[in-house]
Amino acid sequence: MSSSDTPEYRCCAICAYPAPSRCSGCGKAFYCSKEHQTMAWAKHKRLCKIFQRENCGEPVPPADAYCGLCGKESGPFRKTQCCNRTICDDYGNYTPFTFGNNSCSRNHDRYTRCCYHFNEGHPGKDPLACAKCSSQHDAEHIAWYMANNYNFQEDILRANPPSFEPKCCTSCGKQVKQNAEAVSFGGDGLQCGPCTHGMVGGPGGVMPENTYTMDHGF
Ligand SMILES: [Zn+2]
Ligand SMILES: [Zn+2]
Ligand SMILES: [Zn+2]
Ligand SMILES: [Zn+2]
Ligand SMILES: [Zn+2]
Ligand SMILES: [Zn+2]
Ligand SMILES: [Zn+2]
Repeated sequence: MSSSDTPEYRCCAICAYPAPSRCSGCGKAFYCSKEHQTMAWAKHKRLCKIFQRENCGEPVPPADAYCGLCGKESGPFRKTQCCNRTICDDYGNYTPFTFGNNSCSRNHDRYTRCCYHFNEGHPGKDPLACAKCSSQHDAEHIAWYMANNYNFQEDILRANPPSFEPKCCTSCGKQVKQNAEAVSFGGDGLQCGPCTHGMVGGPGGVMPENTYTMDHGF
């Protein structure tokens, strides 16, 4: 990709906030911070190797030989219903009500524009061009659904996510990245994890890494 093809606005693969840095290995993954790059690495590392080979014109495994979300070549795999791509057949990894993100299949099915568009039965073959998808949810969620690393790489690079205003905890004023950290919506509005649990300044209130309390179930 030449720099002139690169859209002005790139979103972090974890939180959808503006992503000034890209993976120095492959140049195809975008992050707001070192912290979120580190968070994404377990899923990105295998894909990164494949993309690097691709960048150098070296042979790469066919797309149906690895999971498009985590790069695993070991399977078992299934095809996504929404876009007929190869993905880990790993719903069994997910424990109900944990909102963990350890299932590639579930992540794609629940947290992407690709599958949302399909599940809602919207017209049109291209979810990224769908006006209905763009009119539902706020800009932060629209951007996250398009750009997070539960999407297939091809779609992430093609997406043109909207920009959005950062949000802050109504109790302590700290910026909250609501798709990447524990948040709640109480009577007072959006609250960060520590405020939710009454633990501001304390040691607690921090959710386990990669756990989201907010589930945009369809
Ligand atoms: Zn981020
Ligand atoms: Zn990379
Ligand atoms: Zn996978
Ligand atoms: Zn899909
Ligand atoms: Zn749609
Ligand atoms: Zn939403
Ligand atoms: Zn707070």
